[in-house]
Amino acid sequence: MIDRLSETVAPQYEIFALRYATMRNRAIFQNFMFPDPHEQASDLDYFVWVIRGQGRTILVDTGFGEIAAQERSRALTIHPVEALRRFGIDPLTIEDVVVTHLHYDHAGNLDSFPNARFHVQDREVSYATGRCMCHHALRHPFSVTDVTALVRHVYGGRVVFHDGDDDLAPGISLHLIGGHSNGLQVVRVETARGPVVLASDAAHFYDNILKQNPFPIVSNIGDMCEGWAELKRLAGGIDRVIPGHDPLVTALYPPVPGQVDAFMLHEPPQRSLAELV
Ligand SMILES: [Zn+2]
Ligand SMILES: [Zn+2]
Repeated sequence: MIDRLSETVAPQYEIFALRYATMRNRAIFQNFMFPDPHEQASDLDYFVWVIRGQGRTILVDTGFGEIAAQERSRALTIHPVEALRRFGIDPLTIEDVVVTHLHYDHAGNLDSFPNARFHVQDREVSYATGRCMCHHALRHPFSVTDVTALVRHVYGGRVVFHDGDDDLAPGISLHLIGGHSNGLQVVRVETARGPVVLASDAAHFYDNILKQNPFPIVSNIGDMCEGWAELKRLAGGIDRVIPGHDPLVTALYPPVPGQVDAFMLHEPPQRSLAELV
């Protein structure tokens, strides 16, 4: 009886968003393809995410470091690897890193995780190393340093390729959503409040979904629009979709007690999304 019960209880995890950078007052046309003329600017946050439970600690994305910050005039509030340490995680203990896509702000610092496997989509690696990168408009969000680091890890036997939707662990699955980068994957995680979907850049902001207004970095706009519906389907509602760069996430979700810029996404939102957007 106990065995049967344990088989039917789905594993549940905690999810933490660690914020490592913020850009203030970005012009609204930088964040939305069809800017609202009444809005002047909005902020944009950068995160890495930690999934914890069932004896596992899984890192989702690795952020960028000082060189990229200087090259692109971004300011780190804390280096993402240092943010992990501050949160109590030794990067040497991380065994699984999901790289949602290979843009510079999600796939830097790979060499700081020498004991990790890197989970990526076939399509993303093909895209980031193929003919589309001959075009400045498409390669601009990538760093050749990060992409070649990933390729080196392929040759080191430390990259796990996924082709579309796949299970990462019981209660954690990966889902291919094109549109932003060609092979972006989102992560669906079972929590005590139901499945939460880390959307990464399938939706930078809640408003990309709510107003059906794409972020202006796109590889295929039709796939991006289809992706918003898929995010809601995977999560069962927008309250369990976590956009990749929205400062509202830090207003909605409770901070981790005693921590700076760490938020608990497995907890119910503290406020209603409707009152904030
Ligand atoms: Zn991106
Ligand atoms: Zn991004």
